[in-house]
Order: sequence, then structure tokens, then C-alpha cells
Amino acid sequence: MAIQRPKGTQDHLPDGSPKLGLDTRAAAFQFIRETARRVLERAGAQQIDTPIFEDAEVIKRGVGGSTDIVRKEMFTVYYFGDHGGFILRPEATAGVVRAYLQNGLKQLPAPLKLWLHGPMFRAENVQKGRLRQFHQVDYEVLGSTDPLVDAETISLLVDVVRALGLKQVKVKLGSIGDPEDREAYNAYLRDLFTPHVDRLSDDGRARLERNPMRILDGKAPGDQELIAELGVKPMLAFLGEAARAHFEQVRAHLDAWDVAYDIDPSIVRGLDYYRRTAWELHHEGVGAKSALCGGGRYDGLAQELGSKDPVPGIGWAFGMERLLLAMEADGVVIPESDGPLLYVAALDDSNVGYAATVAMTARQVARTEFAYKAMKPGNVFRDAERRRARFVALIGSDEVEQDTLTVKNLATGQQTTVPTRDLLAFLKGQLALTPTPLENA
Ligand code: AMP
Repeated sequence: MAIQRPKGTQDHLPDGSPKLGLDTRAAAFQFIRETARRVLERAGAQQIDTPIFEDAEVIKRGVGGSTDIVRKEMFTVYYFGDHGGFILRPEATAGVVRAYLQNGLKQLPAPLKLWLHGPMFRAENVQKGRLRQFHQVDYEVLGSTDPLVDAETISLLVDVVRALGLKQVKVKLGSIGDPEDREAYNAYLRDLFTPHVDRLSDDGRARLERNPMRILDGKAPGDQELIAELGVKPMLAFLGEAARAHFEQVRAHLDAWDVAYDIDPSIVRGLDYYRRTAWELHHEGVGAKSALCGGGRYDGLAQELGSKDPVPGIGWAFGMERLLLAMEADGVVIPESDGPLLYVAALDDSNVGYAATVAMTARQVARTEFAYKAMKPGNVFRDAERRRARFVALIGSDEVEQDTLTVKNLATGQQTTVPTRDLLAFLKGQLALTPTPLENA
């Protein structure tokens, strides 16, 4: 067997490949990226790209030293003579905020809306929907604490997934309050769980010590049983006045726009820099445990990364692979990528170069391919059909002499003689009649 790709990674393949799944179709990823681009850029977002590896400090501070991601799942980058201080990004937010601070993006009009797509890396236990290299679409808004921004950010997420054709999605909304609210909540949880510390898993005990809130989103079934038994009060019950008012306003905006959500008191975010609004997007087809998307406000992150001034921020990210599983469950069909509008072939060897020239000229207007060898007409049509071409231009000596092309519409069988100098106009006319998604984009 030839060398295989690393576990937990996938190849994204061209249409027509054998054994193609929705989540390995390059065209499906392209569809998600372009849909997200359309929705987000109409709302004023601009694309940003940051490096795929960052200084370890950016990741550790941005993701949090106590998280599984930093403790167990980091891919460290080594290269000759280096100290190993770089990490393949496991998520995008920390890099985006680092770039915002480093490049003085504060000068741009606020709130600044940024979006990004690309690969993320986590050394996870591989399972369905859980990969080591996966791909996210990420949206961040920097420079505003306005609850209207929170509501718009959530609403745009819903717009993107709806534009992708998803139906069974649910926004689960919560608030984790301000730092002092969380301190009060953690104190309450510490008092509540400490008498039962023996019943907690190792992981639960570690969380009780470091950050009791995170017990609530732990995975150990015993811990979850204890939580249910103790009748733990939700974080929402501990919101201070300011955070409560903010939450009410976010809800009022969402209600006014008919963006449906469920209040989920169990949403917790353990890190200090998170503030107030937090949410997840779930899908019935993918299972309750795995969110399609996570989002939240992170007003303390910029200072965590060394900024003197606070920079409020809020954003979300979804995994494209997990979204594709949901789209599959919802029966969403992503159209096949286009074949060429025109396929040009010569009937004899002496005209192959001429056919190539015609094809290259036609590319000014539309996707065009050509045959690299002379072929019999029957073979040309078979080949053109496999490539899903819409028109075939056959070039024989007569055509070259008369400066014409014999163009056949493969769907209707209709054949037209087109003067070569009119080819571009002919193709434009065909595109205007039935634009292909590619030309229409
Ligand atoms: P998180 O940063 O953990 O909130 O992840 C945001 C989103 O990225 C999740 O909701 C998933 O859609 C996706 N995601 C996270 N980890 C993985 C993974 N290992 N494989 C595939 N998708 C992932």
C-alpha cells in the first residue's frame, strides 16, 4: 500500500471521484465558503487571513491553559534550530485578535467585522465529525460592547446556515455574566461540590480546584449525575444588573427579528476573558452532544494577549465538516460543479494546435477545454459528455479553411456553424440564455 494520509485528516476531492462523500467534496467546501462570504460581506464583513501557526503564547492565552485543547491537543511546530515555540492554530479567534492589535486595526471604523476560513488543528481522538485537521468559517466583530452587535452576530450565523439549506438548527443562548458574577457563581459551586468531592471524576476534581464552572460542561457521566442530584442553580441566576440588562436587550433584538433561540442555562465558558453573551448552534441530525457552532463575547481577550487597552469582541466559528454532516441529514443537495461550456477537438493531427488556440481564446468568456490529440467525432462526443461539457466545437480541415466552427449543443443535439471571429459573441449569448453557476457567481 502506498503512503497514506495522517489519521484524522481528509482529502477534498474533485467531483466524479470514486467513493465521494459530501464531507470530502471540494465543491461542498467551496459552496460553504462562498455562501458564508456572500452573507457576511453583505453585512459589512471583510476577509482576514492569519498564519496557520502562531506563537505558543497566543494560543495558550487565547484558548486557556486549563482547557483540553492546550493540555492535550496541541500540534507543536518544530523546525531546524527552533525552540518549538509555535503551535498550529486550534481555532481562529486568538490569531485574529493578535492581528488586530499588531496591525493597528483599531484605526478602522468600529465595529470592525472580520471573517476568515481555513484549516484548524487539534490532536483529538478521531471519530465522526471530530478530526485532527478540520476547517472553520469564523466571524469576529471587534470594538463594540453594544447588545445590538451581539444580536446581529447571532442573527448572521443563523442567516449563513439557513442559506446553506439547514433546517433543524437550534440556537442555544446563555449569558455567563461579568467577571464578578462568575466569581460569585464559582464560590457558590465550590461550596456546593466540595462536600461531594469524592464522587467527582479526576477531571471533575481538577476542575473544582481550577475553575468550578467547568465541572458543568465535563463529560464524565458520574459528574453529570451529581450535578442533576444537587439541583445546581444556573449561571443565569447569578447575573449582575448590567449583564442582565445586556442579556435582555440581546433577546429583545432577536425577538424583534424573529430569530428563534432557546435559553440554555447550562452554557458555560470557563475562561476569564469571556463576558456575557454565549451561545451554541445545535442540529438534531448531528446529536445533542456536538455543537455545530460555538460563539460568544470575549471582551477580556485583547488584554490577555498583552493589550493595554481593552478591545471588546464577539464572534463565532463553525466547523465545515460538521456542518456538512448536518446538511447531509437535512437532505441538502449541493449542485455538481460545472463542466466546461465548450469542448474543442480537432479531427486530424495537423489541426490540434489550432483547436488549442480556439479554446484559449474562448477562455476569455467561459470555461473551455480542448482535446490534446485528434479524435474521431464519436469519441469526441463521448469524451465531452464525461467532462459534462455543454457545447462541442469540432475542427476539421474544412472548418480551418473556411474560418468557421461546427458547434454542437450536447443537450439538444442542435448543430450550428459559427464563424470563428463570432465565437466569443456566440458563447456570451449562450451564457446569457442559461448562465452556469460558475459564470453567474
Ligand atoms: P470550538 O472552538 O471548540 O467551539 O469549535 C467550534 C466548532 O468547530 C465546533 O462547533 C465544530 O463545528 C468545529 N470543531 C471543533 N473541533 C472539531 C474537530 N476536532 N473536528 C471537526 N470539527 C470541529
